[in-house]
Order: sequence, then C-alpha cells, then structure tokens
Amino acid sequence: MRLKALEIQGFKSFPDKTKISFNQGMTAVVGPNGSGKSNISDAMRWVMGEQSTKTLRGGKMEDVIFAGTAKRKPQGAATVSLSFDNSGRELSVENDEVTITRKYYRSGDSEYLINGEQVRLKDVNELFMDTGLGKDGYSMIGQGKIAEIVGAKSKERREIFEEAAGISKYRYRKAEAERKLEQAQENLLRLYDILGELE
Ligand code: ATP
Repeated sequence: MRLKALEIQGFKSFPDKTKISFNQGMTAVVGPNGSGKSNISDAMRWVMGEQSTKTLRGGKMEDVIFAGTAKRKPQGAATVSLSFDNSGRELSVENDEVTITRKYYRSGDSEYLINGEQVRLKDVNELFMDTGLGKDGYSMIGQGKIAEIVGAKSKERREIFEEAAGISKYRYRKAEAERKLEQAQENLLRLYDILGELE
C-alpha cells in the first residue's frame, strides 16, 4: 500500500495548508534542526489516531495546534489528512483512494473522517488493524524504535509479530466479544433478579 499525500493545516509548526505528495520512489525531507521535519511524522502518527501526547512530543493534546509566533496569531484548530492508494484493497474500504482526516479544536472537540465521512476513533483503529499501519503499526520507525524492539519484553515483541502476521485483528475481536458476553451475562443476572421480585 502506498502513501499518496499528507495535508497539514494548523498542526505544530504548519499554520498554512501544506501538502506533501509522495510520488513513486523515495521521498526525503531535509532541513535544518528545528525546522519541522519530525512534526511531519508526528502529523502522520496523529492522524492515524495517536493519543499519547508523550509520543507526540507534547504535554497536552492542545500542543499539536499551531501556538503562534511573534508575527502570527495562534490557530484555533489542527487538521491533518493522509491519503493512501487503496487499489489493492489492503484497507477494507471500497475505494481506490482512502483519505483519513483528524481535526482537533482548542475547545477539546475532535473529529475523525474516512473519505469525508465522520467516523469514530475506533473505526480508524480498526481500519489499520493488521496492516502494519496505524498508531501502533511497525511501518513507522521513529528514533529509538529499534532499541525499543530489541529491549522489549517477550509479550510486547510478540504483539509486533502478531500485527505483522495479521492476527491482532482476531485477538481484538475476541476481546470485544468477551466484553459483550460479560455485559450480556450481567444483564441476564439483573433480569433474573427482577423476575424473582415479580414472582
Ligand atoms: P531536528 O532536526 O533537530 O530533529 P526537526 O526538523 O525534526 O528538528 P521538529 O522537532 O519537527 O524539527 O520541529 C520543532 C519546531 O516545531 C520547533 O521550532 C517548535 O517551536 C515548533 N513547534 C512545535 N509545536 C509547535 C506548535 N504547537 N506551534 C508552533 N510551533 C511548534
């Protein structure tokens, strides 16, 4: 699956709408220290649902919104869109191109969209499950990631292999089913209590 484009507006050091197109071959981003290179990979992680402000190198989620400079006013919201070539249907969406968007306002409200349709964070997480993409995917290798994998506990390392082997989706669905079953059992117990009182 190929990345097609990243569009950023109001995110960290990008107050203006900025589009980065990923053409065939390799794309390199070069620039002086502090010019915003890592902010680009932060934007990718963020749009794929990252919730950890530590991973995003900030203190609170509001820190992803352009904070202003001596010459520019701060922005009210951050918006990032990431487009994928889905002609191979690696993502379970019936479109040749899939664009995910995340918007976060200073008020704390946030929106997630898949091809322009409003969705939940859960839908974004499920979209990327077992693809190697997503906030926990292994396709984004950040600074220190290799050391983290080498030094990981066996359970954590196993999770990386499970994602690569495409079985984390089933583990997730099993946990979901178990949670629902537990809820149903609790409801059943409550029903028996009410029945007992009525009899
Ligand atoms: P290096 O090569 O040193 O790793 P880099 O090019 O990767 O640097 P980044 O870490 O991506 O640089 O960008 C840091 C810059 O982003 C800093 O100048 C910082 O002030 C700016 N920045 C981060 N968050 C915000 C924000 N919310 N609003 C405005 N600017 C921000």
